[in-house]
Amino acid sequence: MLKRRDTLPEGFLEARAGELAAMLGGPTLIELPGERAAPLFVSILMHGNEDVGLGAIQRVLRAYDGRSLPRALMLMVGNVSAAAQGVRRLDHQPDFNRVWPGTLDHVGTVEAAMMAEIHERVLARGAFAAIDLHNNTGRNPFYSVICEHRPEVLELAARFARRAVLFRGVPGTQTASFAGHIPAMTAECGKPGSPAHEEAAARFVADVLESETLGGDREGGALDLYHTLGVVRVREDVSLSFAGEAADLSLAPDIDRLNFVETAAGEAFGRASHPMPLTMIDEAGRDVAEEFFAVEQGELRLARPVTPAMLTGDPQIVRQDCLGYLMERLAPA
Ligand SMILES: [Zn+2]
Repeated sequence: MLKRRDTLPEGFLEARAGELAAMLGGPTLIELPGERAAPLFVSILMHGNEDVGLGAIQRVLRAYDGRSLPRALMLMVGNVSAAAQGVRRLDHQPDFNRVWPGTLDHVGTVEAAMMAEIHERVLARGAFAAIDLHNNTGRNPFYSVICEHRPEVLELAARFARRAVLFRGVPGTQTASFAGHIPAMTAECGKPGSPAHEEAAARFVADVLESETLGGDREGGALDLYHTLGVVRVREDVSLSFAGEAADLSLAPDIDRLNFVETAAGEAFGRASHPMPLTMIDEAGRDVAEEFFAVEQGELRLARPVTPAMLTGDPQIVRQDCLGYLMERLAPA
């Protein structure tokens, strides 16, 4: 399933995400040489509707047009068939960011075998760091997701954004799969379709590509670091509306206004006719929804002060992924 190349295909630097399936023929690992041998691993379009990484890497590579890269680059171009449809994943596909080594739900799939092959190659080449570039569907500031509290990882995150989420959950994500091996992070780059977001992501990738080392004390201590309390989902048997139509759960369409905002107990999320329409799974796999939410007189409210993240008002994303996460701020490192 995985295609491999050591050159960019003709037209790659100008292509739109929806054109890559025809250009590449499937998910593709492109290995380009550079002055330092230990490669930077960058993955883009792991979710087909999140194209910030393509715009970013096109900018980085255009800037080096005709010159050698300062460091070798391994570029994974992910779910191109979903990108051709403008969706996160196709209905018959697993999520490309849930099938990396450590996955529990997708063992034995062709996608898991493909990511295992890439994972092995990245480690065999002694990669410098791994960066997975994503967009959000809801409004969020730029932030990193990291799985380790180590100086190299904190510095990598700090080079991208002031905010970082330390998260050990969700087996099968790329960033989790590299924990304990190489500095790895997910860069969450705001909503798709913004040249400014692509430029910011490009500056970050170029900065890491040009770096000789990570893990000095540069900036890592200045991070606003959050810890994930759990992932929030709408129960499958609960009907959902964002537009105020009749449903078991009717959420405010601008719920993403709460992302990265310290939010008090009592904040209303919406109207519910179900006694507990949400699940919230913590890092130990327990459902803790009753600790964090309460339904009182038909209002779904927060039961504790928290900081939400990645809340989305897109019902398809809620069903394919989650409603969002609740977090707490960690004391400075
Ligand atoms: Zn994503």
